[in-house]
Amino acid sequence: MAVQTTELAVVGAGPGGYAAAFLAADLGMQVTLIDPKPHPGGVCLYHGCIPSKALLHVAKVIDEARQAARWGVRFGEPAIDLARLRAWKEEVVGRLTAGLGELCRRRQVTYLQGRARLRDATTLAVQTEEGEEQHVRFAHAILATGSQPATLPEVPMASPRVLTSTSALALSELPRSLLVIGGGYIGLELGSVYAALGTRVTVVEVTEGLLPGVDRDLVSVLARRLERQFEAILLNTRVVAAQETPEGLRVTLVGPDGREGQQVFERVLVAVGRRANSAGLGLEATRVEVDARGVVRVDAQRRTAEPTLYAIGDLTGEPMLAHKAAHEGRVAVEAIAGRRVAFEPRAIPAVVFTEPEIAWCGLTETQARQQQRRVEVARFPWAASGRAVTLDRPEGLTKLLIDPDSERVLGVGIVGSGAGELIAEGVLAVEMAALATDLRLCIHPHPTLSETVMEAAEVFFGQSTHLYRPPARARAT
Ligand code: NAD
Repeated sequence: MAVQTTELAVVGAGPGGYAAAFLAADLGMQVTLIDPKPHPGGVCLYHGCIPSKALLHVAKVIDEARQAARWGVRFGEPAIDLARLRAWKEEVVGRLTAGLGELCRRRQVTYLQGRARLRDATTLAVQTEEGEEQHVRFAHAILATGSQPATLPEVPMASPRVLTSTSALALSELPRSLLVIGGGYIGLELGSVYAALGTRVTVVEVTEGLLPGVDRDLVSVLARRLERQFEAILLNTRVVAAQETPEGLRVTLVGPDGREGQQVFERVLVAVGRRANSAGLGLEATRVEVDARGVVRVDAQRRTAEPTLYAIGDLTGEPMLAHKAAHEGRVAVEAIAGRRVAFEPRAIPAVVFTEPEIAWCGLTETQARQQQRRVEVARFPWAASGRAVTLDRPEGLTKLLIDPDSERVLGVGIVGSGAGELIAEGVLAVEMAALATDLRLCIHPHPTLSETVMEAAEVFFGQSTHLYRPPARARAT
């Protein structure tokens, strides 16, 4: 049997794993990166962020083309060439994953295609694509195996009519009707794609609102638009059974009044969260600790209870976001390199890539309430933004959560077209401990949506140029 030794083994080549492997190579470590896929990329590139964003871009174009009738330009109904659309999405994925493969090669990271399992705290057994087993001995390893869609016992997951985010992104056909179970990130993003392509989409969410945990003033703007795009949004509703019939899945739903109803859907997408991929990794052969949900326990350097093993990304729990994984990966590598580092971000941005997008970072109003923390919220409605009006998207909102004593920006929330791009300034403000006056005094380009961040800071001082508020109280600036 082939045995290779390496300084650092990275298991899983998603955004967390490859970011870690690349930095380690840049720091001069000898690195082996292991993943079953032919190139690095992980779920994010092959079955997640990237293909979904390619399709959401198409959905946005369709949406805007429809809206253009309001501006005096008519395109007619879109003709969807599903095979071409799929091919384009795959071209995007292929280009990016091949690019990562090339970056791997240039950095002289050894890429091992196969599935790895720990034999002990310093050895991995890798099952290669050819069915051979190879052993990798390492000084340190970073576990970055990600997560997979959670399943629902009430739904026959093996049925070809039941989709997860992975199969929904394969876009093998356009069903006439789709039930999306779960009104979270995935449900709303993929629901938007299918709705734009012509499928009648119903969303069922067990809690009382879409995107639980996200501030309601942001969600309500999105919900208003989705109510027009989706066939129905059923809140406080549970799926209690789903049965295969020749016409589709007959789904039994229990609504807020406790009454049962049945509806038939051609396809059902289950998007009720993700589960950490810790099973099958051989962790039982080590001292690594795993909680009841399969999440690996790590310290501030992302070190597990086994000193040679680190874990990052979805494997370490929420928020399950690619950029959080990449950052953790870099922290773990620096810790292994002996640097004094810790993973202690003040602001991990989150973006829901619907239309409009919702983005936030740092403290949210929901968290402030839960923590009984006194904050002042400065809101700037996009109806007062020239740029938003030129885009015919005045429904957006930018808000800042500000500490009333220190005037520090603690959190930023945005709903509106392109909110995901705009939130980066919020991340910088929160991480750099910016004061509201810093955002107010930075000259923002006109006419852009970025001005809404500056004007929200002006609102805090009661001095927004484009928003008149009767002078309730003067704040020294
Ligand atoms: P999620 O946690 O965002 O949403 C799941 C939703 O399903 C919740 O609203 C929950 O209340 C609901 N739910 C749970 N059980 C249910 C049931 N039985 N019936 C009806 N509703 C039910 O999870 P997700 O959308 O599956 O996404 C998984 C993870 O992937 C998220 O944690 C997110 O971090 C990540 N993700 C991020 C992005 C992004 O950054 N844009 C996009 C997709 C996924």
